[in-house]
Amino acid sequence: MQLRFYPYVLKLAHEFAVAAGSRSVTPGVQVEIEYEGVTGYGEASMPPYLGESIESVVSFLQQLDLNRFSDPFCMEDILHYVDDVAVGNAAAKASVDIALHDLTGKLMGLPWHKIWGLDAASAPCTTYTIGMGTPEVVKEKVLEVEGRFRVLKVKLGSDDDRALVRSVRAVTSLPLTVDVNQGWRDRQKALDDIAWLAEQGVMMVEQPLPKDRLDDLAWLTERSPLPIFADESVQRLADVRRLEGVVSGINIKLMKCTGMREAWKMVNLARALGLKVMLGCMTETSCAVSAAAQLSPMADYADLDGNLLISNDPFRGMQVKDGKIVLASAPGIGIMKV
Ligand code: MG
Repeated sequence: MQLRFYPYVLKLAHEFAVAAGSRSVTPGVQVEIEYEGVTGYGEASMPPYLGESIESVVSFLQQLDLNRFSDPFCMEDILHYVDDVAVGNAAAKASVDIALHDLTGKLMGLPWHKIWGLDAASAPCTTYTIGMGTPEVVKEKVLEVEGRFRVLKVKLGSDDDRALVRSVRAVTSLPLTVDVNQGWRDRQKALDDIAWLAEQGVMMVEQPLPKDRLDDLAWLTERSPLPIFADESVQRLADVRRLEGVVSGINIKLMKCTGMREAWKMVNLARALGLKVMLGCMTETSCAVSAAAQLSPMADYADLDGNLLISNDPFRGMQVKDGKIVLASAPGIGIMKV
């Protein structure tokens, strides 16, 4: 198996602002694994606040020796080896995992949703994320995508969240989800704001409080009229169990959890613990987004719009039609180079 990789900086169509700051590019690394003339594609995307960079991903991938494995289907062994090379490096690990899934799916001639036994027709709608901004900018962003989505996701945690939601509501009646990105501090105020949000047609709230405040998240979940989802509070499989009884659901992202294999395990564990599942993404090309979309028939909510936010997508894969995720029937993760 031959591993190749090269840096690829993603250009954002709009400057993207969330509670942690704003940016106009996202560093990425594209990965290829070739085996007997077949190439699988993978990707690492590294929003700066997560601590990985092009340098760290390249340095991680340089340490890998996939030639020690002769069979790409021994994924459990290969991915355990990759995971053990160094702690952290979740996006770097995900890039290998995705390329390996693409490769093995292509060798089998099947897309992963079929291998997993999932019905493509059950894929959910995806939310489309409206970043923070002035009321005028927010309205403009909403109007720009009018008619293309059935649910919008609004980033909160600003100085005046109610004004932000009001400006969205001034131009659309679509159902909303909100993501606070740990931006609220006071749990009672959070509860009051959530009650108000419920009246505004908001369906769920993502990461309202700082990630380690599990007692306060549990307090809030017990009283909240809306389901509370953890995002920053959950990274990998081992984190899922401690969220039982703490939140209503978890946001699983390939770049946090090291890829499709662990994401599949997380979905199943979450289900067994009575937790709802949301599938999310970073700013990514259609490569990583289409990989995540393979799991989407298992999700209650999908936020797989990362490829729609960039202007230099080198792949074509999962599509969004009338707001709904449409999985490609192509094998592997269902992408082709454009
Ligand atoms: Mg989030």
